[in-house]
Parts: sequence; C-alpha cells; structure tokens
Amino acid sequence: MDYDVIVIGSGIAGTLAAINAAKTKKVAVVRKGFGATALSSGAFDIASRAGKRGRPFKGFVNLTEAIGNILENEQYHPYSLLSMAFSGDRFNEFTSMMKTIGDQFFNELASAGVRYEGSWENNVIIPNQHGTFKVTSFCQSSMTSGNLAKLMGRSVLFLGFEKTAIHNKTRAEFLSKILTKYGFASFKNISYANLNLHAHGIKCNEHDFISLAAMMDNPEQAKKILTIIQQSLEAMEYDHAFLPPIMGISNYGDVAKMFADYFGERVSEFLSPPSSAPGLRLQYALDKLLVRHGVKIIDGQVSSDNPSDTIKTITLSRKDGSSVSLSAGSFVLATGKFITGGIVNTKAWQEAVFGLPVFIGAQPVQDAFPMNYLTDDPFDEQILFSLGLKTDESLRPVDADNRVVYRNLYAAGSVLSGYNYIYDKTGMGTAMITGAKAGIFSAG
Ligand SMILES: Cc1cc2nc3c(=O)[nH]c(=O)nc-3n(C[C@H](O)[C@H](O)[C@H](O)COP(=O)(O)OP(=O)(O)OC[C@H]3O[C@@H](n4cnc5c(N)ncnc54)[C@H](O)[C@@H]3O)c2cc1C
Repeated sequence: MDYDVIVIGSGIAGTLAAINAAKTKKVAVVRKGFGATALSSGAFDIASRAGKRGRPFKGFVNLTEAIGNILENEQYHPYSLLSMAFSGDRFNEFTSMMKTIGDQFFNELASAGVRYEGSWENNVIIPNQHGTFKVTSFCQSSMTSGNLAKLMGRSVLFLGFEKTAIHNKTRAEFLSKILTKYGFASFKNISYANLNLHAHGIKCNEHDFISLAAMMDNPEQAKKILTIIQQSLEAMEYDHAFLPPIMGISNYGDVAKMFADYFGERVSEFLSPPSSAPGLRLQYALDKLLVRHGVKIIDGQVSSDNPSDTIKTITLSRKDGSSVSLSAGSFVLATGKFITGGIVNTKAWQEAVFGLPVFIGAQPVQDAFPMNYLTDDPFDEQILFSLGLKTDESLRPVDADNRVVYRNLYAAGSVLSGYNYIYDKTGMGTAMITGAKAGIFSAG
C-alpha cells in the first residue's frame, strides 16, 4: 500500500482532511489544480442567515443563533448531520466542536502567514468592490477594521485605481443607500477617489488586483505603493479608507503589517472578486500546512474504476500524459462542486471520480434538468447549488437506498449536498468542519 490515506483535492476541505489524518497516518493529497478556495473573497463564512428558508433576508445576525437555526431547520445540512453524533445538548456540543476545530485551524493558518479574525458570537459586515457588502464570520486581518457595523456615523472613503475606476459616485451612493435601508450603518459621509499609479512611475496593470498584489510581495515595490497611498490619503478627509485587496499574496503577512503599522485601523482592504489575491493567500497557506504536517502533494487528475465495495487503487493522470496507480487503505473525496468538475452533468448528473449518485435533499437528481432547480428571481434560493453527495453520519457517500457505496471512502466540502453556500453563508465553515471530520474518520 502506497499510503494509509489518500485525499483527492487540496482546497480547504481536502487540506483539513489531510492534516487531521496525518496526525497518525501516512497521507498524500492528489490534486489537478486549485479550486473555489483559491477564488474565495477573503471572507470565511460560518453561518449568517437566521430564520427558516424562504424568510426575507435578515442580514447581520448573531453567529451562534445562525448555527442554531441551521440545526433546527436544515435537516440535510452537513452541520445537522455531524451534530447527530451528540446525544446530549446537540447545539452546545456541535458549536463547541466547531469552535475547537476552527480556533486550532485559524492558529495554524496565522503561523503560515494568513491571519483570520472574527468572533464566534457576532458576524461582521465587510464591503466588496460592487458597492455592496457581505455579512460573514471571519475575514483576513487586513479587512477586520473595515467592519461596517463599527463605522456607523463615520466618514468612509473608497480608494481605487484610475483605470479600473471601480469606485465611483454611483457605487458609493448605492452602498450608502442599502446599508441605511437595512439599518446596518449610516455614515457621516461616503466618498471615493481613484489613484493613477502610472503617473507615479509604477508600471502595472491597474485592472488586475492579482498582479498588483503579486507586485506588493516585493518589499521595495510595496514600500513605494504604500508611500503613494499615504501621500494621496493625507490630502483627503476620512475616518476610514477602503483599499482594493492588493496587500500581497505570498508575502501577505509582512505587507499587511506594513500597512497596519502606518495606518493602524484607519485603512482596510475590501473583499475580493474572483480571481482573488486573498483566495490565493489562503491556498498558499494551506499548502504550507500540508508540507508542515508531512503530507505528500501529488499533481494530477484522479479517476477510478472500482467494481467492489472497497476502493483499493485510484488512477492518476499526469500533465505529461503518463498515468500511475496509487493504493491506500482509505480515501477522502474533496473535489469541490461545479467549477472544479467535482460534480458533472455529462449524460446525467453525477460525482466525477467514482460516478457516485448526487442528491438535492433526499432526492436523487440524476436526470434532472438544471433549470428545474433555478428560478428567475435573483433573491430566491437557487437550489441547484445545494446538489451533491448524500452521506451517512461518518461522511461516507450513500446511494438512493441509503446504502454506503464504498466502505473506505469519505467525502468533504462542496462536493456534498444539503447546503448552499450562496444562501446559507456556510461555505468555508462546512468545508472546514467536514474536512476535519473526514480526515479523522478516514484515519480510523
Ligand atoms: C467564486 C467563489 C467565491 C467564494 N467566496 C466565498 C467566501 O467569500 N466565503 C466563503 O465562506 N465561501 C466562499 N465560497 C465558497 C467556498 O469557497 C467553498 O465552499 C470552499 O472553498 C470549498 O472548498 P473545497 O475544498 O470543498 O473545494 P475546492 O476549493 O473547490 O477544491 C477542490 C479541489 O479538488 C481538486 N479536484 C477536483 N477534481 C479532481 C480530480 N478528478 N482529480 C484531482 N483533483 C481534483 C481541485 O483541483 C481542487 O484542488 C466561494 C466560492 C466561489 C466559487
């Protein structure tokens, strides 16, 4: 046997699975590339929607209340499934498990250069580039001071770059209007300004936050851009200024500190659109954790053709056209959903590596027409996004008769059904907790 455990996928779910299994076992992660984790905005959603499905948006809620609502109302959500292991006070025991796993993980990430901040009690409200905002639970440390809930009555300034001009009067006014409408915050003043980096001799693509952030990884360039921002802000009136997410990628910790040392809490980054420097920061930090925990990272696309109820080997196809067979005692499937090809619709909807059946709630959806699960109201829940694998309480995928398909296969993250990260706002939280638990289960 090559490994005790092989994890397929290295997003947040696969990494949590691998580092937990690696505490006692010999583990490899195989991946064909980066997925949704590397595209994520810098926000780490645990839960932020209170109330039953179909109820209007309630917005900023107590995090523990939002978790409680999921356990009470969302029968198929992975949080509810994992809470079934507790016989006493399900809510308290599940929340405490989530906090323990989360705190440990955030500490590890911080030691790998990316600090997430937030609390297990209250969510935060962080703006994005669209002139709207996101209610989320944790965010990268360079974003924390931009919690709009705490900036009530202050003057806020949005700073962009001339060519992108993402901050303009319309967006500033729109943000102001919706925040006031929902009673989240009203500001003394919202203004915007766009810097022309080229006029300051910086040759860059101002359209592209990733390349700007990569440029900031170089300490000399970071210092130059920081000085331009300082000089520009000195001439402006503001209590808090928001910058695009450009504070470095692989050298994020140092760049964010440089800004914090100079501006304190007066400047923060807003959330990123995809492609995302904050997403790449997170993914690179995850890779560091894999290496630190002794997990072997192998590149390639996995496929499998297993006739029995136990998986013995998987096939790995490499970019150079070669392929190799890898064996393990157990496997974790953390292949993501649509954008990574974890779930596909070729002739029918199915999971891509093992051909496992997929579900929405308890219902198998093999032949479903996608439009049946989408509505034309953008504020409705689009239940197509909750499509994925159904599992038993140990996260082993089951078929339509609730029979475990492979006794040594566990699944984690967005390949699972029962939650809808767009609607529940539990994207990272679900990937983290199911990843950690799948790793523990797979290690026996
Ligand atoms: C654009 C975007 C923005 C988001 N923003 C946020 C946010 O701000 N906050 C939040 O909480 N959530 C957000 N989410 C949701 C969140 O990012 C996901 O729920 C989470 O990252 C899923 O992690 P994962 O590990 O399950 O999957 P992924 O990160 O998608 O990882 C899947 C992995 O599987 C690998 N893989 C797939 N198939 C194979 C194969 N056959 N062989 C080998 N490897 C394979 C991929 O290469 C990849 O490594 C966002 C999602 C998207 C798409």
